[in-house]
Amino acid sequence: MSAALRHARKQSDWSSKIAAIAVIGGGLAGLTAAIRLAEDGADVTLFEAAPTLGGRTRSFVDRTTGVCCDNGPHLLVGAYHRTIALLQEATDQTAIHWQPTLDLPLWAEDRGHFHFRPSRWLPFPMALLHAAAALPAHHADSAIAMLKLARAMRGRIEPQTSVTSWLTPLQIPAALQRDLLEPLCLGAMNEPGSSANAASFARVLSESFSCRNHARLGWFTAPLAQALIAPLQQRATALGVQLKLRHRIHRLDADNSQVHLIGAAEQHASAARFDAAILALPAHARDKILHQPGSATPTSPITNIHLWYREPHPLPAPLVGGIGTRGHWFFDLTAMHTAATGNPTQRSPAQHICVVISADTAARDHSALLQQVNRELHAICHRGNGHTTNSCKPHHYRIITEQRATALVRPQAPQPPLPASIIDAAEMPQPGELPATIELAVQRGEAAAQRARQRFS
Ligand SMILES: Cc1cc2nc3c(=O)[nH]c(=O)nc-3n(C[C@H](O)[C@H](O)[C@H](O)COP(=O)(O)OP(=O)(O)OC[C@H]3O[C@@H](n4cnc5c(N)ncnc54)[C@H](O)[C@@H]3O)c2cc1C
Repeated sequence: MSAALRHARKQSDWSSKIAAIAVIGGGLAGLTAAIRLAEDGADVTLFEAAPTLGGRTRSFVDRTTGVCCDNGPHLLVGAYHRTIALLQEATDQTAIHWQPTLDLPLWAEDRGHFHFRPSRWLPFPMALLHAAAALPAHHADSAIAMLKLARAMRGRIEPQTSVTSWLTPLQIPAALQRDLLEPLCLGAMNEPGSSANAASFARVLSESFSCRNHARLGWFTAPLAQALIAPLQQRATALGVQLKLRHRIHRLDADNSQVHLIGAAEQHASAARFDAAILALPAHARDKILHQPGSATPTSPITNIHLWYREPHPLPAPLVGGIGTRGHWFFDLTAMHTAATGNPTQRSPAQHICVVISADTAARDHSALLQQVNRELHAICHRGNGHTTNSCKPHHYRIITEQRATALVRPQAPQPPLPASIIDAAEMPQPGELPATIELAVQRGEAAAQRARQRFS
């Protein structure tokens, strides 16, 4: 038993009553639950079906370039308090680059580059209004609309209301919707305003823009496997969590006091009896294990187009939002992954860009898609700098569509009751909660650990 575990055990008496807790799912929610329980001295075993931890925040090595890539680049905002705390407890060198103050670089074909950049010198609420009115082709009515929005955010929003229905009576100018609200909605909710839940979008806006410190973007300065998962895995291991990788759980036999995990080929079934099991899974995987008919939690896809160029394609900022473009966000991963130290973490002769399309339900024609985002990227990189070459082709690309990238915010259908030994931490964001994000995953993991604590105290 490690010193950390002995120390934790001394501090907690509830866990001494627990023989064992299983956490099923080694994504961020499962890792968080495992860490929080092990800090309290519980005996924790984490089962993960994949060969590595991370789930949707996983990385992989691209065979052609040898570059460690993320499933998809992940952005954070300053209001991700639980994620930041968890990482800071796991490592004193968090590999996150924070903008000193909010700067949202944008690009549109007809207006070129512009920024939503609240001034540092004005009080923050005024700076937001001023930044909206200062966007090209915007006027004072954008600032007035921001005021109306701030007031509406404080009012009651019905759980079924969509963002569009919520905004319509506010008479938000079309330009503000197009340049700011729709990109924020797509980015945060992974869903267009016409169907995204207004109560959760209002929560995102009020948390993210409550003060200057929360309203800034952060990104990992190394692939997620190194920057996010490795420190958490080390912390879990140091606390005595047993990690069972490549262990898919197929079924649970549970009553109120015990749960029996049944995995592939009964490889570990004999030892798999626990006092409680936490299901830290996407809803569809949770339903499969419980042999319940689909919960019908809807999900939305995200497409990531990884592009490697031999020639420099420096974006004017590490991340640019496209307005009216097929690609929604253009990430300069070469710049992002060197920002912290100046030393590239990825040794590759090529420039690595990732173009992200949120809620990408369009028909699949990879060659047309590639041509289009390549053209858009070329315009974003070279417009206005005298560069007149035709757009060059990437020497390598990889298109990944994660079909079930995020669960959508919907009022929850009644769930069949579960035995008390099963703690459900599946991703099913409710109206008014944060949408499916890494912050919600950490919050779900912490809430599940808390429920286990309450159950055994
Ligand atoms: C492409 C993409 C981009 C994103 N961008 C952002 C972003 O910019 N900012 C942000 O905040 N969020 C973003 N997200 C959302 C965020 O990644 C997820 O909400 C979060 O990682 C979910 O974590 P989780 O632990 O709940 O689930 P998961 O990460 O899905 O983890 C569940 C784990 O359970 C395992 N598992 C499944 N079934 C079994 C079984 N039967 N037995 C054992 N193990 C099993 C899976 O292998 C997986 O590892 C993005 C997601 C995607 C896909």
